[in-house]
Amino acid sequence: MPDLAATPEPEPRTYPADEPGVIDLGSRHFLLPTDGAWLWWHDCPAVAHPAWGWFGQRSDGRASGHVITATEPMTVQGSLVCLECGDHGFIREGRWERA
Ligand SMILES: [Zn+2]
Repeated sequence: MPDLAATPEPEPRTYPADEPGVIDLGSRHFLLPTDGAWLWWHDCPAVAHPAWGWFGQRSDGRASGHVITATEPMTVQGSLVCLECGDHGFIREGRWERA
């Protein structure tokens, strides 16, 4: 079942590709470590900026239902879906895999 903790909050409108710790998942999908959780970005055809969501557990105690089963390379249990364009997939072994 698709699952994404996508919440509109302040975010940069550029790709985080050059920031420390960013993971390039391929296919214009990126992960950026933020506040104890991970921001997930992708090149969204439905909006004029990268769409994003997050997973993990943040410092304020909020958490998504995703389980990070490995970090080297990143593997996440539970799919992610973009609420803007419907792009749906998994993060497995550091790569984006379309569902
Ligand atoms: Zn999208």
